[in-house]
Amino acid sequence: MQKFLTAVTMSAAALLLLAGNALAAPNTQPAEMARFDGDVVVRVQPRGDADLRLLEQLSDDPWTCGPSATGAVDYRISREQLATLTLHGVPFSVLIEDVQALLDADLAERNQPFENRAYFDTYADYTGVSNYVNTLVATYPGFVARISLGNSVEGREIFGMRVTSPVPPIGGVRKPVVVLNSLQHAREWITVTSNLYTTTELLSKYNTDAAAKSILDQYELVIIPITNPDGYVYTWTNNRLWRKNRRVTGTSTRGIDLNRNWSVGWGLSSGSSGSLSSDTYRGPSPFSEPETQVLRNYMLGVPKVVAHIDLHSYSQLILRTWGYQYADPIGLASINRIGSAMRDSVAATTGAAYTFGGSEILYLASGTAPDWVFGTLGAFSVTAELRDTGTNGFVLPTSFIVPTGNDVLSMVKTMIQKLCRADFNKDNVVDDSDFVNFAVAYETLTTNACDLTGDGITDDADFVVFAAAYEQLICP
Ligand SMILES: [Zn+2]
Repeated sequence: MQKFLTAVTMSAAALLLLAGNALAAPNTQPAEMARFDGDVVVRVQPRGDADLRLLEQLSDDPWTCGPSATGAVDYRISREQLATLTLHGVPFSVLIEDVQALLDADLAERNQPFENRAYFDTYADYTGVSNYVNTLVATYPGFVARISLGNSVEGREIFGMRVTSPVPPIGGVRKPVVVLNSLQHAREWITVTSNLYTTTELLSKYNTDAAAKSILDQYELVIIPITNPDGYVYTWTNNRLWRKNRRVTGTSTRGIDLNRNWSVGWGLSSGSSGSLSSDTYRGPSPFSEPETQVLRNYMLGVPKVVAHIDLHSYSQLILRTWGYQYADPIGLASINRIGSAMRDSVAATTGAAYTFGGSEILYLASGTAPDWVFGTLGAFSVTAELRDTGTNGFVLPTSFIVPTGNDVLSMVKTMIQKLCRADFNKDNVVDDSDFVNFAVAYETLTTNACDLTGDGITDDADFVVFAAAYEQLICP
């Protein structure tokens, strides 16, 4: 135990410097990197289907995957295509005047020497992230264990961490698990740093922040920083704006949208595409891709997943289930209670305005990870679309890394604090019917519904946890 405490008292600043210096050489842009000279990103307010079809014909790079609640869509297009929009009288505003200039400025900033830079001063490539995970393992022995989920299409390791305190689980072998995965979509770099920042903050504040201690004592976090390693590497070596994985799908087509490849709601054309060249191509069948398979398999092997966030960018949204349909999910009141508290806690701590809601606030997306986690495992699950709202889109300057990391830290802390384990029937109230329902399910001792400790068995320890939560007769 002494060893743990010594490690934890090491200052966060020292740790971050250490990790920053452990990174590889500064970022240099390979000669073959795709260029986007003269391209702009526009936010279009289509007047109807004809405008949407025109956009689809003009551009192969939508930055949003369908009309939002306001009907607006963002696209990267060339100057010539911009002229075509103007010619047709399509209403638009320019979000990014010069995509290549934004990429150049971003690279110049990242090319500054690493001396005296901390890990969260800049983005790290695949190897850098892997090294950082090892740094956390070394810095917080007993708190962090590296895990390997399997390999990507091109054979890269999909790695992650199990993060929890040495305080043992109640009556079992494993605490209830909260899964945080980022970068299903390759260009959404801010999701990787935000995930690692959140993990680092919880670990480094374990001895000084009661909320961090409570979370790591009661729960285990499973952190998957790079769900799509091939795509991520490709954004560093060939095309900063790549989204999908790197599956060869044809002579000139590559990639499957991993977040359209999960089985719940899979295959609907409202929210995914059957076209090989589409940026939302769902693949030939659910879980056709190793990247989604290994994450699914890992979660199926966990006795009790209680909450999950799938991190994306951009738009500043917290999206509840369902993603693939407008119908209300079971336990909507409880989901709304947790989700709106997450939104409010971000506003209160970092000042960033996020919108919380269902698919009506963005667009339908079918075959997503959160729908699978909620629909199959019954866990609370949201998609978090991080900063910004379109000024920089996917190419978020490094100055956003820490502020956006704090958004996610706030979301994660609030989500876990607001989980209401005693609300057994998920009606957002703790009352007698929860006790009756729990007792009935408990009697069979077989279902994992009552496995509140998350150790894979239903026993007295679960009853103790339920009774303790039930005593308060109120959701947090
Ligand atoms: Zn995404």
